[in-house]
Amino acid sequence: MPGFELIGKSELNEVKKIFKESNGVLFAHGFDKLRKNIFRVRKFEKQISNFFKIKYVQCVSSGTAAIKIALKSAGVKQNDEVITQGFNFIATIEAIVDCGAKPVITGIDNDLNLDLNHLKKLVTKKTKAIILVHMLGYSGEIDKIKSFCKKRKILLIEDNCEAVGAKYKKKYLGTLADIGIFSFDFGKNITTGEGGCILTNDKKKYLFFKQYHDHGHMLLKHLPRGNDKAAMAGFNYRMTELQAAVGIAQLKKLKFILRENKKRFNHLEKALKNKTYVRKIYPGSIPSYDTFLFKVKKNKKKIIVKYLNKIGVGTKNLPDAIKWHFAFYWKHAVNQKQLRNTVSSKKILDEYIAIPILINKNENLYNKIGVDISKLI
Ligand SMILES: *Cc1c(COP(=O)(O)O)cnc(C)c1O
Repeated sequence: MPGFELIGKSELNEVKKIFKESNGVLFAHGFDKLRKNIFRVRKFEKQISNFFKIKYVQCVSSGTAAIKIALKSAGVKQNDEVITQGFNFIATIEAIVDCGAKPVITGIDNDLNLDLNHLKKLVTKKTKAIILVHMLGYSGEIDKIKSFCKKRKILLIEDNCEAVGAKYKKKYLGTLADIGIFSFDFGKNITTGEGGCILTNDKKKYLFFKQYHDHGHMLLKHLPRGNDKAAMAGFNYRMTELQAAVGIAQLKKLKFILRENKKRFNHLEKALKNKTYVRKIYPGSIPSYDTFLFKVKKNKKKIIVKYLNKIGVGTKNLPDAIKWHFAFYWKHAVNQKQLRNTVSSKKILDEYIAIPILINKNENLYNKIGVDISKLI
């Protein structure tokens, strides 16, 4: 979440460089001479690849576009089914629907992660892919779900839009499944305003991403772009040089952001862990610590939410913005039978409050919040 809090001089300087060094070429492709062979989207992709230790990265216009391209690369089409969890963001469902396929919704467990037992019951011959979403900075049961998918030969996509920088067993989330998805929209751990990327270690998949997101362009080196060949009908999901410039500056801040998040998170955890149920971190994983989640009794919820609003921090997704993050409310995109799968998840979600971690706020504020809430609970 805190990327937007640190937008400033270094992002501006990277943007200025586009004008100083490469004549204001804002497009990621071609214009080789005019731009003096400087390609910022390509540079950003290389930096992501090095930082997260993944072979191939394709930057695109949004996280939603990234999910759509991932599904297209798996050949998802009409009458196929794609499974994902009810506690989610609408983007995954929209990407499935946009491919003409049917979203199938699983419940969540007590820790708000995808419920593997429910998932096992929902797989059919029509299941083309599973999208595991690491919600609010915390890892889902990636190892167990991965081995289940491997056994059943189903493509696994990690939607890691909300947990950029989080890890499982020393590896970054988003690099563990067949395909990983990041978003860099303005509410994410690092931001380019709008933007996202797709990660994979599979060269064939990468070549699909690269072509599909750019009208099918093969980018054959010996041909000028205007005479380039197409391998398929694609679309335009390109990232611009402006976004990449901002991303280059933001990625340098990610480690700092994660450290600062954790300091504030620790204050809340220390004050509340003996007072109430705090969302459990999946064993072996390290969250990105940008949200702190805990349970409250029904009669205390309103009081605590009111307190968080009054102190200027508010809540994140739970309870605010829940309508965009829970399939229970998506009858415009999900069929009745699937909506029924969300009823038990609602009971769990209703018990939780999510506190956003903001790093421009002094860490002592989070100490105070923890102590205050421990008295209200
Ligand atoms: C933000 C988000 C997306 C979509 O990202 P955009 O870049 O805003 O399109 C997808 N999935 C989840 C879980 C998200 O939080």
